[in-house]
Amino acid sequence: MLSEFISLIYPATCLNCNETLISAENFICTACKIDLPETMDHLNSENVLFQKFAYNSSIKSAASFLYFHDGGIAQKLIHGLKYEGSHEIGNLLGELYGKTIFDYFIPDIVIPVPIHKKKLRKRGYNQSLGFAKGLASCFNNVEVRDDLIDRIKNTETQTRRNKLSRWLNVSNIYSDVKEDLSGKVAIVVDDVITTGATVGMLCDKLKEANVSAIHILCMARR
Ligand SMILES: [Zn+2]
Repeated sequence: MLSEFISLIYPATCLNCNETLISAENFICTACKIDLPETMDHLNSENVLFQKFAYNSSIKSAASFLYFHDGGIAQKLIHGLKYEGSHEIGNLLGELYGKTIFDYFIPDIVIPVPIHKKKLRKRGYNQSLGFAKGLASCFNNVEVRDDLIDRIKNTETQTRRNKLSRWLNVSNIYSDVKEDLSGKVAIVVDDVITTGATVGMLCDKLKEANVSAIHILCMARR
């Protein structure tokens, strides 16, 4: 009742175009949803994202849902997700992407890239967890596992570093994996992949834990 009353006074608007949303719409309007800049990476096994991870033979594919453009819809959605407390945006993106890619893999587990506990305390949630849950809801019998590995180093923001120092900066940022993953097919999910260094480091740890295959999925890439 109260939320309906509030929405009468302050109607929710589309994060992208500011149109008033109808009750069945969340965060973005139907027109903007149809216009999402999808990469279709999953249709191209040699896409630029996957090429970043060629050194790890356990990684079988990599794909991004959206293109990230400055000022574009993916940036607006992910900004809302990470900095404005709208954690359900992750679930929404996961459900939308899951409908596209659900018959390309048969995963056993979905692993959101962990964030450091200090960042978790500050933000209140791991922004990749909702995305993982939304994706998992589109597959049969898949578990979301955010308890397998911890981020043990809280590196500073990497956007201003050059490529080499970024790679050095991420050495040993994750704990070892806490279980043997023999026979498991894992989907690893991240928000935005730029260099791929941090998610690559996580996948190296999964390989050490004998994972049988890894598919990397992210919300957006440049
Ligand atoms: Zn819109």
